[in-house]
Amino acid sequence: MEKNRALLRTKNPDKFGNRKKQSVTHHTAFGFCRKCGVEHALETGDAVSLASALMTQLESNGCIDFELPQEQRNPGFSLDYLWGEARGKMFGVADCIDANGKRVALKAFSCQYQGRWEAPGWAPPLLDPQAWDRLVEPVDREIKSIGLELERPHVSKTTRLELREQRKILSQALMRDIHELYEVSNFCGERRSLSDVFIGQGIPTGAGDCCAPKLLHSAVSKDLRPLGIAEFFWGRENLSHTRRHRLFYSCCQDKCQPLLGFMLCGIDK
Ligand SMILES: [Zn+2]
Ligand SMILES: [Zn+2]
Repeated sequence: MEKNRALLRTKNPDKFGNRKKQSVTHHTAFGFCRKCGVEHALETGDAVSLASALMTQLESNGCIDFELPQEQRNPGFSLDYLWGEARGKMFGVADCIDANGKRVALKAFSCQYQGRWEAPGWAPPLLDPQAWDRLVEPVDREIKSIGLELERPHVSKTTRLELREQRKILSQALMRDIHELYEVSNFCGERRSLSDVFIGQGIPTGAGDCCAPKLLHSAVSKDLRPLGIAEFFWGRENLSHTRRHRLFYSCCQDKCQPLLGFMLCGIDK
């Protein structure tokens, strides 16, 4: 892990956004596994050509629910959303094989799509969307009402400090509760909570919501073995200019690498 960190600092990313020195293959999804004491990794393999085919589908249909007949498609799944204020999004594809040797392709989008966790034909999140709604909505309302309270005139300095503290405690507790909703699985048949397996202090917002965790989780639940994984960005360039339309990237360092070592464990069995 430490050695990789050093490499990450010194090497320039290649076209896959991968900073590790690799001449032949690209480890697009990787992370350190505490149980095995080594890094597990998954290369792109044939997932790149599957990703290119997905890009063609996106381009020709202009939406992500293209598997549905035209009249059943939801305007909320239009790709226009990725060119507006929200900016673009990561998409991922996994090339998998089932028990009978049949190839199966899985696809995922990162986080939510216009407030939706699920879309027809796409890998589900690592949490139960209904449980997420039940947990987040009431706390969100409370946090918003504190915000309104703070905007009112003539609020004393002491009250203001108290309200801010109250809001901070609420959102920290919410983050912890959200992390408990994530069920992280691997190819050894283990199931753990996000906070159990995440390496490092403080789990960043959005950990577990990237394409690689969704694809691996989906593969485990469908009894598939991934042979390759590829992630690309689609839409308006992100604010920090680190993600560009149609380019491929490795798993992210802050949210995915501390998680993927556990998730990839047992993949070679
Ligand atoms: Zn990530
Ligand atoms: Zn392992």
